[in-house]
Amino acid sequence: LYVDHPLGAGQTVPLERAQAHYLFGVMRQTVGGQVALFNGRDGEWLAEVTRAGKRDGELSCLEQTRPLRMPPDLWLCFAPIKKARTDFIVEKATEMGAARIVPVMTEFTNAGRVQTDRLQAHAVEAAEQCGGTYVPEVAEPVRLDRLLDGWDGARHLMFCDEALAAEGGGAGLETRGPWAILIGPEGGFSEKERARLGRLEAAVAVRLGPRILRADTAAVAALTLWQLALGD
Ligand code: SAM
Repeated sequence: LYVDHPLGAGQTVPLERAQAHYLFGVMRQTVGGQVALFNGRDGEWLAEVTRAGKRDGELSCLEQTRPLRMPPDLWLCFAPIKKARTDFIVEKATEMGAARIVPVMTEFTNAGRVQTDRLQAHAVEAAEQCGGTYVPEVAEPVRLDRLLDGWDGARHLMFCDEALAAEGGGAGLETRGPWAILIGPEGGFSEKERARLGRLEAAVAVRLGPRILRADTAAVAALTLWQLALGD
């Protein structure tokens, strides 16, 4: 269970209404029962239920069962698409070990308002589901040109583009260090954006096979390729 509260030996952890409902109403936990907790910072802790109310409750940390496992320094930058598919991307990026998720507004992005709070909640759920001890931060949306203006040259960029020649392939995914993956919107990147990304020294252009993948599929394929080449 994810809690936004410090975890440590003897630490008391209060539960909010939704968490109490889930633990005591859905999971049928009672006082004395044991629950694994994580907060994205302190690893995983075994905790005991000390109070079980209808609307709230309390747990007490017993011992650390797993240390915090930080993912590699990999960002997933992607142009938001339809709501359900954007949710899917955030969920899969969390499962696939992205450290930070960055919605990027490109020229052809036509998604509605990006609700980062909702996306962050999806990342928490995905981390809970896959037994992670870390939750990636979902950043506020940023325009692609602003993102590239401030690009730290030390971070390599895996720029995924279906319009590349076949020989664009996965070559160049060898250098270790901080990385980011960039996935475009349903309409792809504009020629202006392609030209700018082509001039970015830190960028490695990657083609994910001969077919045009949906953006959500491309995100999962790119994360898989990166993990295979450089992940731990
Ligand atoms: N119209 C489809 C959709 O509705 O999702 C296709 C979108 S595709 C243009 C979206 C993004 O996925 C591209 O900008 C690119 O980043 C990535 N992508 C798709 N197929 C790819 C491929 N074969 N190689 C590299 N990137 C690809």
